[in-house]
Amino acid sequence: MIKFLDLQAINEPYRESFHRSVDELVNSGWVLLGKNLESFEREFAEYCGAKHCVGVANGLDAITIILQAYKQLGKLKEGDEVLVPSNTYIATILGVYHAGLKPVLVEPDVETFNMSPSLAAEAITANTKAIFTVHLYGQLSDMQGLQKLAEDHGLLLFDDVAQAHGAQMDNGRKAGAIADASAFSFYPGKNLGCIGDGGAITTDDDELASAISAYRNYGSHKKYYNLYKGVNSRLDELQAAFLRHKLVNLDDDNAKRREIARQYLSGIRNEHVQLPFYSGGEDHVFHLFVVKIKDRDRFIEYMNDKGIQTLIHYPVPPHKQEAFSEMKDMSFPISERIHREVVSLPISPVQTMQDTNYIIDVINSYIV
Ligand SMILES: *Cc1c(COP(=O)(O)O)cnc(C)c1O
Repeated sequence: MIKFLDLQAINEPYRESFHRSVDELVNSGWVLLGKNLESFEREFAEYCGAKHCVGVANGLDAITIILQAYKQLGKLKEGDEVLVPSNTYIATILGVYHAGLKPVLVEPDVETFNMSPSLAAEAITANTKAIFTVHLYGQLSDMQGLQKLAEDHGLLLFDDVAQAHGAQMDNGRKAGAIADASAFSFYPGKNLGCIGDGGAITTDDDELASAISAYRNYGSHKKYYNLYKGVNSRLDELQAAFLRHKLVNLDDDNAKRREIARQYLSGIRNEHVQLPFYSGGEDHVFHLFVVKIKDRDRFIEYMNDKGIQTLIHYPVPPHKQEAFSEMKDMSFPISERIHREVVSLPISPVQTMQDTNYIIDVINSYIV
């Protein structure tokens, strides 16, 4: 069986360095807000080309805390509208909701699956204060288009980089150093993943970084003095240590993912399987390789019979989830169609050429 994601194989090369970090930590007796977190924050900010990085407990918190911190600084207020993609993992929308702001859903570009600046422009009202875009599946949104839109309307621009660690624009700017603030997740299966939960926020804004460092730790800049009604959302020392070991190989890992994507794109030839758009550059880190197929249930069953595990990202669009029943009568036909047709093929830095070729052969032999 070719697994969709072989986490054991991804983490195996780090076994010894992980063990060493655990020993050091047990010996040090200091397991929260310590040296590893500080070092990771510095190294990850440097990697992204951002001035600050603040570690938090997970990606959802990263999204929520950016918005909460801007509220504390008086730049956002309860009920402000935030444009978010209708075609995303639900976390982006939940983050806006949990911060007490109003998510306004925007349809994606049909080709890239990402937020369309022109459709975003149509959704702007007098109450719109920010755009929170997502680089879905690892491909950067049209950041130039969204930056222009944000500037023209005086909006803050944020990005959810949970799937796009290391993706960069043609001008060399990396995700994490493009928007006003960026939210990262280090959930185990992401391109940079912990052995557990983790997240971070990057920004060039000194005031915001300072507010976030306090907000994630009970709103406290100084022990037992609380400036904000904050939360407990810290990236612990152990996860920070693990991430430091893995960050060193992130660019190589992304290059391997791109190589597999190129093989898929040149090798898969089947009229029933629609391949994703790829510019060929470094703006895509292929967290996922997602094809579109009209009758996907049959295809998934066929792949399964051939020993290939596939997944769906995602089967139900956020506005059709029971959790958001207030949106159930809204219509986002582009997103709904994407959600009906997408299938994710296996892709990871540890996938062998042999497996990739086998997957291509199996797909090319698929007949409807
Ligand atoms: C994984 C993911 C998140 C949430 O990250 P967690 O660390 O699981 O909270 C948010 N947005 C997107 C697009 C994601 O893929």
